[in-house]
Amino acid sequence: GRPAWASGGVPDPAPTAKVRIGSNECWAGPLLPGQRAAQKIVASSNRYAPHDERNDFLKAVMAVEGVPYDHIAPWPGSSDPLSRAIVSFCSPQRGLVTADPTFELAGRTADWLGAPVKRVPLRADYAHDVRAMLAADPNAGVYYVCTPNNPTGTTTPVADIAWLIANKPAGSVVLVDEAYTHFAGVPVASPLVAQGRDVIVLRTFSKIFGMAGMRMGFTMARPDLLAKMMRYDGGMQSGALPLPSLACATASLTAAPLIAARRTEMEEARGIALDHLRARRVAVKPTNANMFMIDWKTRSAKDAQTAFRAQSVEIGRSWPIWPTVSRVTVGSAAEMKAFCVALDKVLA
Ligand code: PLP
Repeated sequence: GRPAWASGGVPDPAPTAKVRIGSNECWAGPLLPGQRAAQKIVASSNRYAPHDERNDFLKAVMAVEGVPYDHIAPWPGSSDPLSRAIVSFCSPQRGLVTADPTFELAGRTADWLGAPVKRVPLRADYAHDVRAMLAADPNAGVYYVCTPNNPTGTTTPVADIAWLIANKPAGSVVLVDEAYTHFAGVPVASPLVAQGRDVIVLRTFSKIFGMAGMRMGFTMARPDLLAKMMRYDGGMQSGALPLPSLACATASLTAAPLIAARRTEMEEARGIALDHLRARRVAVKPTNANMFMIDWKTRSAKDAQTAFRAQSVEIGRSWPIWPTVSRVTVGSAAEMKAFCVALDKVLA
């Protein structure tokens, strides 16, 4: 029952198929203008760039985000630049500060680097506690702020991010991960980039744009900060990106009404699940994105995941700080209805 633009041409899953709401993927493929642009360029992919596709992409980001051309770098996804930012600005002498719980990649790269990691619990309202983050390590190399945060889906006010940038030590950066930002529709950090602050903003096409398997993302930061992230490969990182992915991203980024419609579709599907959970008196943490966290209280999250798996529903993992809390990704309305049916069986 979904409109064609929303499904990206992919039909709702058969009722017997496994429901995949564990990995924060989009329920649908790329927006149709993006699919068309990608299909059109496949035949010309013997060239690194038959036309100046990279330039078109950078110009689209400029127009949408309001940051200068030389403040943007495209990447195949956002995991690579995330790890590079840690390698570039952390060291055994200059650590990393993250929230807890949050997306683990920054912490894992810092561990590999031998940089000390401080994990600071979220505030009672589930925003990042930026003052406690600075106090936890006043000489860190990177302060990582994921907003909306994975796994909670909660946002941190831009004013708090600006405060952290203004008060952090010299030579460090605030790394703002906005992977889920289009699902929240709240103010974003790009203006701080345009103002020339010590901030690196990460974006990906893996989430609302439905391109996780196509690998596209970009960073926005001052040119000197971007240059530090490119020292390892002589600046070659983004010389050649997958052409269909680049074309798909350019066409998708500028499709504002389709992005907004997809957010509305997510909110409606999320509402189906949250209403049902409320009716069953199950504790759910607040969220502003395409994921929510269920507190099973008397049951471990691992146990709940196994019980859902027996119903062919793959829900998400848990984080050590909250062992009874599971993350669930918002899928299509049909998938969330299947989740509700499975929930009743899991609770029975
Ligand atoms: N940042 C956050 C917060 C994520 O949740 C993810 C993936 O789940 C990523 C970055 C990396 O994704 P990708 O490399 O596909 O852009």
